[in-house]
Amino acid sequence: MNKAFCKEPDQSDRPLCPACGAEGLPVSEATLLAHLDAADADTLAEPAAWCDTDNCPVAYFDALERSVPVARARGVHWPKDPAGALCACHGLTCDDVDSDLAEGEPTRVRRVIEAAAAPDACCAARSADGRSCVARVQRFWVRRKAARG
Ligand SMILES: [Zn+2]
Repeated sequence: MNKAFCKEPDQSDRPLCPACGAEGLPVSEATLLAHLDAADADTLAEPAAWCDTDNCPVAYFDALERSVPVARARGVHWPKDPAGALCACHGLTCDDVDSDLAEGEPTRVRRVIEAAAAPDACCAARSADGRSCVARVQRFWVRRKAARG
């Protein structure tokens, strides 16, 4: 029954989101506790994962198909929260990226990407997906740039 317990512990073997079926991004307990109430974090078994699908209502889930919705998570970033920050630790917002695009110069984006690459960057610890903000900022930039034509 429980495939999770007899599989090899291997990176390609991540749990799938019970709502959208996408492969999740494994997250640490520290990430869970930073974005969920302890009672909600406690409902998930390890390894818990973040659902990275833009419009999926699930924030975190585990291999037993238990999940906590975005509505119960705190500090969720874009794109799950369209109004959320891109990089919470450096305060980069979607509006900042739009300003950069309007000016034709990625001043704000470049500053955050440099800061996020520094050894003392805390993006991964503060991000709901437990990852550095750089890829997310770049993803948003590319998307917005394409949308502007
Ligand atoms: Zn999902």
